[in-house]
Amino acid sequence: MPLALDDPAAPHSASGETVPTHDLSEVAPPARPGRRWFPKRVVATPPAYDHPHGLRIMKRIEALGIEVERLTSARLTGVRGENDRQTYARAKSTLAIVVSPPSRRKLQPIAPSADWRFDLAEGCPAHCQYCYLAGSLSGPPVTRVYADLDDILDNLSGYVGQGTITSRRAARRDEGTTFEASCYTDPLALDHLTGSWQRAVEHFGAWEAPVQLRWTTKFGDVDSFAGLTHQGRTRVRFSVNCLPVTTRMEGGTSPLADRPAALRKLALAGYPVGLTIAPIMTVDDWRDRYGELLDAVAAAVDGVPDLDLTAELITHRFTPGSKEVLLGWYPRTRLEMDEESRSRKHGKFGAVKYVYPADVMAELRGWFEQEIAAQLPQCRILYWT
Ligand code: SF4
Repeated sequence: MPLALDDPAAPHSASGETVPTHDLSEVAPPARPGRRWFPKRVVATPPAYDHPHGLRIMKRIEALGIEVERLTSARLTGVRGENDRQTYARAKSTLAIVVSPPSRRKLQPIAPSADWRFDLAEGCPAHCQYCYLAGSLSGPPVTRVYADLDDILDNLSGYVGQGTITSRRAARRDEGTTFEASCYTDPLALDHLTGSWQRAVEHFGAWEAPVQLRWTTKFGDVDSFAGLTHQGRTRVRFSVNCLPVTTRMEGGTSPLADRPAALRKLALAGYPVGLTIAPIMTVDDWRDRYGELLDAVAAAVDGVPDLDLTAELITHRFTPGSKEVLLGWYPRTRLEMDEESRSRKHGKFGAVKYVYPADVMAELRGWFEQEIAAQLPQCRILYWT
């Protein structure tokens, strides 16, 4: 049963946090423990505590000394504050343990990343000022984690061999049927509280079929994954950007330097790994800044045996809806969202989005393809968008 909020239409407003500046030259294994989020308020809906995984999450959170409120209905109250800023802050510090909506059992393709997407949570406690969730999810940004994990994972077996995205591309068919598990959240922002993605990795590890689990993260807290039996059927990608972007716009995430170090740790544990370079922006001196990023990744993967490294390159875009929500949440943001300097495009179902003009896109793409080939020759670019 989905969780209903008492104020689903409330607008949001708050300033973003920033993380401390980190010199990329600090990148060196071993990774420091990642930054962990602990919610101020945790609630569980009645159907959630009928599920074994819901109970596991509750026990895990209570063991951390955090009280879990057992709601008597699926309605969450007390999120709305005295103003928009307070509502945003309360929602972002609340975790709800719920059962996923029944509609989520019918999987959707997720181009260009994977054949299918499935969700283990919805919402994220971090504060990225360009976050795509702003245009995708409605209502106060409470993070919901799903208690019916076992049912969600069991449901995937019906989709093997039915891929419509990566399976149709000769260059990616070797990945098997691909399943993306980070569309509406950041897994490592939450896994220390739920264990859901660890169980998903083990599920795919035990699944003797041509399948691949995929997820991307801005966190570096990977120690609990290094020893799992993954059988190479999970590709973890680290979402990275150049320094002015990460320090100014990615509040509440792990410092940038932790991510290449975490990538190295998982690559040494035999995982296929990847970079999600996103959102690529034409910040001042972008060639130098992104060049430093690629240098840091090259240093981090140096000497990793049998490295399987990919890159997914995603340029910045926004929609009228995401711009409005983001400016409400982060009114002092320095994120460029100027329609006049962008090209207007129509996305899925005719929705308008603003992307860089074709000449800027071509310049960015040419530079990234050339520099990745030069600095990370082992790296396979999966797509540019
Ligand atoms: S980590 Fe990802 S999902 Fe979370 S706020 Fe940042 S961009 Fe959004």
